[in-house]
Amino acid sequence: MNRKIYAIILMFGLLSTISLAGNKKVLILGIDGCRPDALLAANTPNIDKLWQNGAYSFTTQTDEISSSGICWTGMLTGVWHDKHKVVSNAYKNPNIEEYPHFFRRIKAQYPDLTTASIVNWKPIHNILQEGDADIQKRRLFDWWVTCKAKRTVKKQNLDVLFVALDAVDHAGHVNGFSLDSSKYLKQIEKADKQLGKIIKALKTRKNYQNEDWLVIVTTDHGGSAYGHGKNIPEHTTIFYIAHGPSVSKGKIMEDVNVVDVAVTALHHLGVEVREEWQLDGKSAGLK
Ligand SMILES: [Zn+2]
Repeated sequence: MNRKIYAIILMFGLLSTISLAGNKKVLILGIDGCRPDALLAANTPNIDKLWQNGAYSFTTQTDEISSSGICWTGMLTGVWHDKHKVVSNAYKNPNIEEYPHFFRRIKAQYPDLTTASIVNWKPIHNILQEGDADIQKRRLFDWWVTCKAKRTVKKQNLDVLFVALDAVDHAGHVNGFSLDSSKYLKQIEKADKQLGKIIKALKTRKNYQNEDWLVIVTTDHGGSAYGHGKNIPEHTTIFYIAHGPSVSKGKIMEDVNVVDVAVTALHHLGVEVREEWQLDGKSAGLK
């Protein structure tokens, strides 16, 4: 083959590979303390659209210590508490050197990708290390988190965004984590509206048609009566919803766990998940 033609073909091949990797993006939306049965009972058209056209599991399991710090850390590191060592919301000595936030794994392979984390409950960020998150924001109210997320999701050079709302958990602690608690269900409906706004903003991205967004909606734990934290099904059963072109639609038949979230995100972004990392999660719901 003519050398020039060969070089041109090689260049095009390389360019298409680069743009392909660059098109993969992840949005994770977390609703603190949202029971899956309550989510299904509440009027949540935005979230319904995602699971009805995506992959889902309403029997997903979170950490047996079903408190926020432990569960969010499992979700974002891909390992259970025996490895990440966060065993209370005090976050004493998290083992982030061995089991860092998944943003760090992304950055190690793709330093140019832009990562963002916007949360209401500040301790979620305790496991972030220098350089992990390009954008790291804490806002005191869910509406404020939503505003910030809406603005961030439109940024041209954004690749991964994690958002966590907190008011549903608060409503559960005050009014009961129960299908009989209309205030708890109302707050879930409010969260659905807020997530709907973020997803609407996502779709206005200039290059949205050429991007491959994986949207994951999930929670850290459930609850019963006015609390959570125990190793009982009402507290440890959560939901996992994945939506986007790379998803295998329908109910996920295998077991899904909270630690699968980080690994699924890594997998979607094309980050090579190495054996020596000893992650507990697996990719869930992707083709
Ligand atoms: Zn929580």
